[in-house]
Order: sequence, then structure tokens, then C-alpha cells
Amino acid sequence: MSSLSHERFLADHVRTLPRSGIRDFFAIVQKMPDALSLGIGEPDFITPWNIREAAIYSLEKGRTSYTDNLGLLACRKAVTRYIERIFGMSYHPEKECLIGIGVSETMDTALRAVINPGDRVLYHEPCYVSYAPGIRLAGGIPVGVPTYAENQFSLNVEDLEKAWQPGTKALILNFPTNPTGGVVERERLERIARFAEEKDLLVLSDEIYAELTYDGEHTSIASLPGMRDRTIFLHGVSKAFAMTGFRIGFACAPHAIIEAMMKVHQYCIMSVPIFTQEATIEALTHADDSVAEMRASYQRRRDFLVRRFNAMGLPCHLPQATFYTFPSIAGTGLNEHTFATRLLQEEKVAVVPGTAFGPSGAGFVRASFSTRYEKIEEACDRMDRFVGKLLQAPLEAVR
Ligand code: PLP
Repeated sequence: MSSLSHERFLADHVRTLPRSGIRDFFAIVQKMPDALSLGIGEPDFITPWNIREAAIYSLEKGRTSYTDNLGLLACRKAVTRYIERIFGMSYHPEKECLIGIGVSETMDTALRAVINPGDRVLYHEPCYVSYAPGIRLAGGIPVGVPTYAENQFSLNVEDLEKAWQPGTKALILNFPTNPTGGVVERERLERIARFAEEKDLLVLSDEIYAELTYDGEHTSIASLPGMRDRTIFLHGVSKAFAMTGFRIGFACAPHAIIEAMMKVHQYCIMSVPIFTQEATIEALTHADDSVAEMRASYQRRRDFLVRRFNAMGLPCHLPQATFYTFPSIAGTGLNEHTFATRLLQEEKVAVVPGTAFGPSGAGFVRASFSTRYEKIEEACDRMDRFVGKLLQAPLEAVR
């Protein structure tokens, strides 16, 4: 071990950045082989065989080179055709599309391409853990806008208006939402779009869970009148296609924005691995049935898990999309951190404290259903036992 203190070498803005709460929690879970995890945010399915085969075939053909910085043109064409087919939006594959390392890198690239030091960026929370740190790393000021269980964690324009200040440049949207499964219906989305227009905001719309919508229809904000010009549409194959390890995401936006993103991407990443881009072409053109099968399986698990939560006394709305539930644990008398820690210690079930996703997650935990049905059943039995004891305790104290 070195005796040198390395703190002084670290950049201030990185040293002061908190570690993800999920990461620390899961370091503990990994050391418990008999733990049942409802904590993970990735599909339990293996990538469909035809997609894996396309990756293998690509390597077999000796496709091992760099590609165009924007991504293989054939992959960009597959992406824009897919977006037209599924989202009804048209983008030029040569000028308005960039292939990146998951939505993670395309979001980071987008932020670094558009944020000047001190620009304010609105985002709704509870939300995916990367947004606020990503805004900070780009030099911006993150401004969280709360969403509420009362309206299933959709986003109120009134709350956006309250959070807006001069110097606000962009708005990050993530519908359907990780960790709440929140969605926005079209009329509400139209109001958000009008707000973005009025305030002249650029919208960064992360729609990675769009295909995992069970009730109603997903609408992209970029498809609303006037919004294509002020939206960076971000999507990828990780979730719906069970391709997290392939690390593919894409951004579609007006040419000048893609060109600026390309510069950031070029100097940082150069290009995405060619064989995972070729596998993505297969995914976007020949995997609709696999996606539908996985979606049906998630929906069955969702219905079961939400029913069990409500029955055991953890009020939980029915998420209309994603593979996450967000039950309230407020009635147990524990805060979300103690609840998750004790549940793990006493019953070996892992869920994520809601505040890992922002302060409005207080009183909630995230439990994902991207886990086998039988495991979810067993986890529910254990949780039932744990929650039963907690809910009984206050009654006994009264007696
Ligand atoms: N955006 C959201 C809302 C997510 O939940 C995740 C992963 O959990 C990502 C982006 C990152 O996805 P990718 O694998 O495409 O980098």
C-alpha cells in the first residue's frame, strides 16, 4: 500500500461527487450467495440467440476494425428504420444519428456537447442514478423536480415551472421511468412540450424502457409538434432486447447537435465495437417476437409482485412500464435505508432504498421484477414475514 495521499491529485468536482448508493449496497449483496435480489436493473433473460449468433458471425467473418465515429452506416440505418417503425419519427441515418456505448455514454456525450459551465438542467426524480452526476461532470447545475406517488410518479408541469429559473438550458426526461415505472400520458406530455418551448429548453429524452410498456401506448416527446427540433432522443438495446453487455445506445437529434456530440464521442470513445453494432442490426430487424415474449413474462411478474405488495401492507401502484415497482414502506415505521438493510440481514432479500434515486424516494424502495417468477414468489414470502412482524409491532405496543 502506498503511504502517499492521493486526494490532492483528484479533481475537486470528482472528489466531491458521491458514489452511487446502489453500488455500495450491491457490494454487500454479492457477498451473500443465498440472497434473493429484487435489486438489479437488468433483464434476467439471456440475449436472444439470433442476436448472439449475429455477433459471433461478425467475429467469424473477421469484422474486428474501428467503424465510422458515428457508427456503422448499416447500424444507423437499422436504428432510424426501427425508430420510424416503433416511434413514428423520421431521422436521417447519415446526419442525425450516433451510435454510442449504451444510453449511459450517449447521455453523457449529449450533456458534454450542450452544457456550458453554470447552465441549469432540470430532471424529474426519483430518477436513474446517473443524471445529476452526469450534469455535474459536464459543468452544469442539476435541478431535481419531485414527482409523487399520488399520481404514479408522472410529472406535473406546475412542478417544472416552480423549479425553473433564468439560466435553465435543458430538461432531462425519462419516461417510462427508472425507478418508479412512471409514465406520462399524451396530454400531460403535450403540456411539458409547451413548457419546453416557452422556456426555450433543449430536451434530452431517455426512452430506454419504451418497449416495456404494458398498459397504454408510449409516446415520444420528440414526436409532438415542434419538438423534434429541440429534442435529443436517446435509446438503446440494453433493456427490451436483454443486451446490457453489448453496450449499444443511440442518439437521434438535429444534425448540428449530432455533429457536436460526434466531436465529444470521437475524442473519447472513437467508435463502438463493430460486432455489437452488427448484432444490433439483427436485434432491431428480427427480434420483435423475442421482445414481445419477454414483455409478456415481465407483465405476469409485475401483476403478481404488485398484488403481493399491496396484500402484505406495502401500498404499491401498478407501474405501467419498465421492470420496476416502487412500493411505499412508510407504514412499517422504518426509513427506506433501515428497511432495506434489515430485510437483507433478516430475510436475505435485496431491494434498493428509494433515496438512492433522489430525495423524493424517501419512504419507498425499488423492487425489480427482472428476476425469475419462482424467485419473486420466494422473495415475496420472505418479505411478507418481515413486513408482518413490523406491522404487528405497533399494534402490540398499543395493546
Ligand atoms: N437510462 C436509464 C433510465 C437506465 O435505467 C439505465 C440503466 O439502468 C440506463 C440509461 C443505462 O443503460 P445502458 O445500458 O444503455 O447504458
